[in-house]
Amino acid sequence: MIKIGVLGLQGAVREHIRSIEANGVEGIVVKRTEQLDELDGLIIPGGESTTMRRLIDKYHFFEPLKQFAEAGKPIFGTCAGLILLATRIQGQDSNHLALMDMTVERNAFGRQRESFEVELDISGVADGYEAVFIRAPYIVDVGEGTNVLATYQSKIVAAQQGNFLACAFHPELTDDHRLTGHFVKMVEESKKSLASS
Ligand code: GLN
Repeated sequence: MIKIGVLGLQGAVREHIRSIEANGVEGIVVKRTEQLDELDGLIIPGGESTTMRRLIDKYHFFEPLKQFAEAGKPIFGTCAGLILLATRIQGQDSNHLALMDMTVERNAFGRQRESFEVELDISGVADGYEAVFIRAPYIVDVGEGTNVLATYQSKIVAAQQGNFLACAFHPELTDDHRLTGHFVKMVEESKKSLASS
């Protein structure tokens, strides 16, 4: 059975587990690095990216997460998780896991619009998808190998690069589990190809 972890250091963890389970696979809250070994894929949830990075360092997750990605296992970063995956963060010299070739801007929709909900068409995944944004970042630009999956007000809000998926909104906060379902399919495919290689 496919097992997908949710990095459980901070943020909306339980809701992601619910969304993973709604797609018929097992969801596991990850609090220790050894747990990564039993997983086929991982979700890095929303929360606060600088706090999450601090906790990643404190609990020695940084290298194990890089190795998880290098082993060809899919990672889905949502909101703060998207910021952690990006190679470039606007206005900052430093980055975090730097796994996806893209530039992100934090808190990009402005304070006056702390949270909002819109319908999005996510290319190849879902039309009329209900997306909840909370102090959301957006993707300013993507490199050649990164596909744009959705835009809102001409800003990129979802993208995929091989085994990495990222979105600026919270796919776990509604009953629309189709984007998580897309990630589950990515994980199933990678598990098959890792088993045959
Ligand atoms: N603005 C937050 C950050 O910079 C992300 C917000 C969220 O994950 N809902 O980390």
